[in-house]
Amino acid sequence: MQLTDFIAAVPVSKSGYRWEHNFEAYAREVKRGGTGADGLVLAGQVLGQVGGDHRVYDPFTQEKALWRDFAKLEPTEAAILAFANRYGVLRSDDTTNLSDWRDAMARWAFAFSLWEAIEAYKRSRRSAAINQYVRWEKNTLHWQAPPWSQKTKWLTLPASDAQQFNHGDLLAPAQSLLVSLFRLHMYRQLPGQPVATPNATLDVWPDPARTMAFKIVVPNLIDVLWIQFAVAVANEKQFLSCEVCGRAFELDDNRVDRRFCDNACRMKAYRDRKKKAIEMHRRGKSIKDICSALDSDMKTIRGWLKPKEKK
Ligand SMILES: [Zn+2]
Repeated sequence: MQLTDFIAAVPVSKSGYRWEHNFEAYAREVKRGGTGADGLVLAGQVLGQVGGDHRVYDPFTQEKALWRDFAKLEPTEAAILAFANRYGVLRSDDTTNLSDWRDAMARWAFAFSLWEAIEAYKRSRRSAAINQYVRWEKNTLHWQAPPWSQKTKWLTLPASDAQQFNHGDLLAPAQSLLVSLFRLHMYRQLPGQPVATPNATLDVWPDPARTMAFKIVVPNLIDVLWIQFAVAVANEKQFLSCEVCGRAFELDDNRVDRRFCDNACRMKAYRDRKKKAIEMHRRGKSIKDICSALDSDMKTIRGWLKPKEKK
């Protein structure tokens, strides 16, 4: 599966969102056993469809690495608001209050750092990080309990289930735990519904090149993020952070030396380096010093300084 097999239309309020106290959200949280302490929801004009003050985008084509940036999001009201103003709310078919965001982020953090531990273990075979999630004690396999599941910190896998893994192997059980997290987030239990509903559905979609194509339609942003994450893991995609703006981008095999998320950031980095070279030159630094400070070569730096020298 590729990201192009999926499609989403995520609405974002053009006039932005704001945190509002909402009694229903408060009551819902109390009913679930929470304190109801926040009862804060992100309100904005999104649900009004016709002439609604919102724009729509498809993160599967326009924000392919958004799942990486979601991992870095701080669970504060201000950071969540800024994220929503740029990318929309987690569920546009429902109100999401502050505790829903924090719950989604805690789940995310658990899965994301598990995946990082798996990757680190594959590279180095050092077990410190992966042992935070799976560990063997004699013949028993223990799993770290996800933050939302139990009060206990560790779950013991029944001996009959542990048999599927080679004794002492950490990689397969950790990968199996990650898969179970993805599977859990492919479905949603709606109130009053006896069975869980899939978060994505198969549909046919117009395709100019060949009349139509099968697409998996994903209505809500949070599910888009889980699918982006799962597809990247399944396809072993590599990601880096943009050196200018910090946004994540996917590393493709043709351009392994890529350092910026888009052309705008690449051009900004170029202009900044040129400006710095000229500034250093003005302060009397030698070309050699400028080269080593900017990690560049003589020819490039000379080219940048030339027009300035003519003046
Ligand atoms: Zn950038």
